[in-house]
Amino acid sequence: MSKDVQQYKCPNCAAELRFNPRKQGVVCEYCESFFTPEECKAANEQRQEKEKQEAPRREEFAEGNNLYVCPSCGAELVTDKNTVASECYYCHNPVVLKGRLEGEYRPARVIPFKISREDAEGIFRDWCKKRWFLPKSFMSDSQLLHMAGVYVPFWVADCSVHGVMRAVCKKNRSWTSGDYRYTEIKEYDVFRDAGIRFHGIPADGSSKIEDELMEAIEPFDYDGAKDFEMAYLSGFLSDKYDVNKAQVFPRIRNRAVNGSDALLRGSMAGYDSVRVTQSDMQVLRTDWLYMLLPVWFMTYQYKGRQYGFAINGQTGKQAGTPPLNTGKLLGVCALIVAAFALIGLLGGWLIA
Ligand SMILES: [Zn+2]
Ligand SMILES: [Zn+2]
Repeated sequence: MSKDVQQYKCPNCAAELRFNPRKQGVVCEYCESFFTPEECKAANEQRQEKEKQEAPRREEFAEGNNLYVCPSCGAELVTDKNTVASECYYCHNPVVLKGRLEGEYRPARVIPFKISREDAEGIFRDWCKKRWFLPKSFMSDSQLLHMAGVYVPFWVADCSVHGVMRAVCKKNRSWTSGDYRYTEIKEYDVFRDAGIRFHGIPADGSSKIEDELMEAIEPFDYDGAKDFEMAYLSGFLSDKYDVNKAQVFPRIRNRAVNGSDALLRGSMAGYDSVRVTQSDMQVLRTDWLYMLLPVWFMTYQYKGRQYGFAINGQTGKQAGTPPLNTGKLLGVCALIVAAFALIGLLGGWLIA
């Protein structure tokens, strides 16, 4: 039995599973999910069937891409065979062709770029215009050349949750009759047992790009996603994911569990008071979509610090931390101090 189950993969995070004789089931060492051997077998058969269907498309992907590696920062970039990548979008050092990326990295879906390079440069220039304290070199044409259209890898998960909740709920009613005031409290033992399905919970699969920067240019409209075709990569770079399903699953599970808990609590909103005595939310199964999202990305080195700037390639929303030209800032501060000094002087005269 145990030998058999060892080859199974976790229906949630795809990590290898082991049979646990004490619990008479399968426990995932990564995400701590628990399954019966039957649940596990069924999920794995479905997965294998799906993989069989995808095999030809994976092969096509493996033959049609170029994988570049940055010797300086280790970034791994993918393009289609006809696009030549010269520099790392992240650290601006030259990249080296390393061969091809295997088919298992083929994305399932992609949101294509809608914002062209010209649009992105325009958005960037407008953003700079409103910030007089930026260093000149930040807005230069040579800096703009470093702006790259990058498809950022994302994991998008659909989760099935089994939720059980038990609560002591109360309904209060008061009324007056004659000289008496009556209060009636009814107490209910409330029980919920629900199957809940979540669609499209996202988590980015790149450790290089700051999570805050990606969150700042959200949202992406997933309705605009298309089935992946190699042609979408033409002229753009794609970042290979370096955070796998098992690593992002805790984040996904948190959102699914908290969402289920809130949903079941919400179903008890009709009571005057609710005291939850049991809340047990179990993620039974997770279906993954590996998706690429379009971002115009630029980094900038200034006085030993790196600054990131990003534009949502679908909506044009921009975000970034502006570098400060301290010389310009100090100049203005000095002026303000001088102005205050003058006002102080005038005040002195007025009093006198
Ligand atoms: Zn797992
Ligand atoms: Zn690099």
